[in-house]
Amino acid sequence: MNPGLISIIIPSYNESGNVELIYKAIDKEFEDIAYDYEICFINDGSTDDTLQRIKKLVLTNAKVKYISFTRNFGKEVALLAGFQHVKGDAVILMDADLQHPCSLIKPFIEGYEEGYHQVIAQRNRKGDNLFRSCLSSLYYCLVNKIVEVDVKDGVGDFRLLSRQAVDALLLLNEGNRFSKGLFSWIGLSQKIIDYDNVTRQKGKTKWSFSKLLNYGMDGVLSFNNRPLRICFYIGAFLLLLSLLCIVTTAIILIRDGVDVQGFLPMISVFLFFGGVQLFSLGVIGEYIGRIYYETKKRPHYLIEETNLSNGEHDEGNQ
Ligand code: UDP
Ligand code: MG
Repeated sequence: MNPGLISIIIPSYNESGNVELIYKAIDKEFEDIAYDYEICFINDGSTDDTLQRIKKLVLTNAKVKYISFTRNFGKEVALLAGFQHVKGDAVILMDADLQHPCSLIKPFIEGYEEGYHQVIAQRNRKGDNLFRSCLSSLYYCLVNKIVEVDVKDGVGDFRLLSRQAVDALLLLNEGNRFSKGLFSWIGLSQKIIDYDNVTRQKGKTKWSFSKLLNYGMDGVLSFNNRPLRICFYIGAFLLLLSLLCIVTTAIILIRDGVDVQGFLPMISVFLFFGGVQLFSLGVIGEYIGRIYYETKKRPHYLIEETNLSNGEHDEGNQ
């Protein structure tokens, strides 16, 4: 008897050179795995021939499914579309670029059979750019101090989720999705598996510095309003400090009489307070911006075409 179905979700954005390779690698891996599998490619508005290549695979293999978006909606949303459409008893998330070794599928399934709801791959940073790895270590250190959910360095989306974990994620319908935080937020039992970092073979990374910066902001802002509170405390502290300055200046003025000071200290004070105010406004603005987008209740994505029966004329805001 077949023990069940494993669905593999692969978000793909301009991965023309990789779709066939990843399909072959997964197919080979499943030769000696008892479970049945399906691969669901999410074509996230690729501008190369990624979609054509996926459709070529579909012609020869019924296990290959695809959802093609009308434009690029981002990896996080592509994962959501996958969750909403796949049928597996367990779901594996993988990148298309072969940076997530297929050899981990077996240990993932072993973890699943042991009863874990999330089996998570944690990579070391071997071969990564030193500046980037220092920056991300610092980032995770900071994020874990600020937000309530636990996000680990080296842990990404590469993982197996049980059906229960996927159903839990589907309850979180926010538009601004910071998956790492969401995976941690749902809880459930977790097993970590270590693996060596693999560098991308074909195509190039879609993470520019500004995209990474925005992703970092999402991580901090999506999970609590502590940054707003930090602004409040900084503001209160500065107010006290300025009161102290005013009182001291008044005392000196009364005691020593008027003494004309240089204009530099004045400019510094203006700049300092201006900076603090703008910073605070920025933080508040970020939250208001998020509320604005969420109240629009727009679908998270639009599907142009798919070979999944339940995806026809579908939109991602169930
Ligand atoms: N991806 C996507 N939409 C995007 C950006 C990336 O679906 O807007 C996919 C991409 O095709 C790949 C995965 O997400 O399968 C990870 O992207 P990438 O390899 O660029 O990220 P990195 O490994 O550099 O973190
Ligand atoms: Mg990659």
